[in-house]
Amino acid sequence: ARDTRSIRDYIRTIVDFPHEGILFRDVTTLFADARGFRMAVDQLLAAYAGERIDKVVGLEARGFILGGAVAHQLSVGFVPIRKKGKLPGATISQAYALEYGEAVMEIHDDALKPDERVLIVDDLLATGGTAEAGIALCERLGAAVVGCAFVIELPELGGRALLEGLGHEVHALTA
Ligand code: IMP
Repeated sequence: ARDTRSIRDYIRTIVDFPHEGILFRDVTTLFADARGFRMAVDQLLAAYAGERIDKVVGLEARGFILGGAVAHQLSVGFVPIRKKGKLPGATISQAYALEYGEAVMEIHDDALKPDERVLIVDDLLATGGTAEAGIALCERLGAAVVGCAFVIELPELGGRALLEGLGHEVHALTA
């Protein structure tokens, strides 16, 4: 019989991770499945078909997995945005709000050239704080953010509204 599973069918929910009361959407089961992973990459590529993209920027850590595959398929370079202290070269930093407290993300200061068009990729959009910090880092290097692409969005947490309110294009494969 034909396999009719959709992206959503490959994502599992883990109860009480990383703490009690949280329903964690786990995309490792999507990435681990050959058909699921290819479907995710292909759907993401289809959403940006015809757009000029010079680099893919992935957000640590699951954005690296998806973003790397997308960059390879587009035959463009891949640039990581990482948590503070992980990148070896000279960086610029951006602080952003977490549910409790604050975190800092970094990008190499020579990773993007002015006027390069970049696609930002991550696994999941929740409040949008992480992606907003990623956008700010790219824009501070002079790059233009073509869009922000996610496997899954949690619309009730307002990430899409935040990013679209800032004038950014948002694409999620499922909610
Ligand atoms: P935001 O900044 O609130 O939009 O949170 C998004 C970031 O947190 C992304 O980098 C996600 O990988 C991570 N994240 C938040 N909730 C989940 C989840 O349920 N599953 C996987 N990642 C999550």
